[in-house]
Amino acid sequence: MNRLVVAIDGPAGSGKSTVSRILAERLGVPHLDTGAYYRAATLAVLRAGIDVSDSEAVVAVASTARVEPIDGRMTLDGEDVEAEIRDPATTAAVSAVSAIPAVRAVMVDAQRSWVASHGNRAVVEGRDIGTVVFPDAEVKVFLTADPDERARRRAAERGEQVDRHLEAIRLRDTHDSSRAASPLRPSEDAEIVDTTGQTIDEVIERIVGMISGIDQPSSIGDQPEGRLP
Ligand code: C5P
Repeated sequence: MNRLVVAIDGPAGSGKSTVSRILAERLGVPHLDTGAYYRAATLAVLRAGIDVSDSEAVVAVASTARVEPIDGRMTLDGEDVEAEIRDPATTAAVSAVSAIPAVRAVMVDAQRSWVASHGNRAVVEGRDIGTVVFPDAEVKVFLTADPDERARRRAAERGEQVDRHLEAIRLRDTHDSSRAASPLRPSEDAEIVDTTGQTIDEVIERIVGMISGIDQPSSIGDQPEGRLP
């Protein structure tokens, strides 16, 4: 089968995860959440009791930790950490860990190997997929949404207050877009899709439309219904 890498980049709460998962299912290809790699590496650092500002120690731990998604769940040294990597302490520390170039190099290698071992057909979501991990991806999408809507989605997912999330999202966006190594920015050849006020169906249809031009449309099944959370 032809190679088909769909790169879905964008900031927190832009709808990346929801859209990527549904799209992968519709295309019948695996989904890779690259944020989970950085989160698992961060968890390893926190568990080791290392200060995230100590780059050398962070790199030593992050590069020896075995970070691997198995059946759609992230594992750290063989342990399922899918829930723990999303806790507030890990979320607060992840931007600092992911800004370290040597950490990124290890994670990017692991992500490329995972996609290669899955036949080079996958929907890959993250911050630098279209720019760094797969600059030659067949389809590149950069999802955006206004910060209020992104905070509202995150709060709805977790049943928490919007204000807290708005502040956390702004902080993480600032870190992720201003770091020197692979800052969050759209690839020049990415299609920018603003998901504010859009249904999942509308977003998925738009991306499927881009893919239909380059992959067999017969592999693209019926779409589910609903709004972005
Ligand atoms: O997507 P998610 O919110 O789980 O990502 C967590 C963090 O991991 C981001 O805020 C960012 O700092 C980092 N990340 C990254 N590059 C990626 C994916 C995530 O730097 N490809």
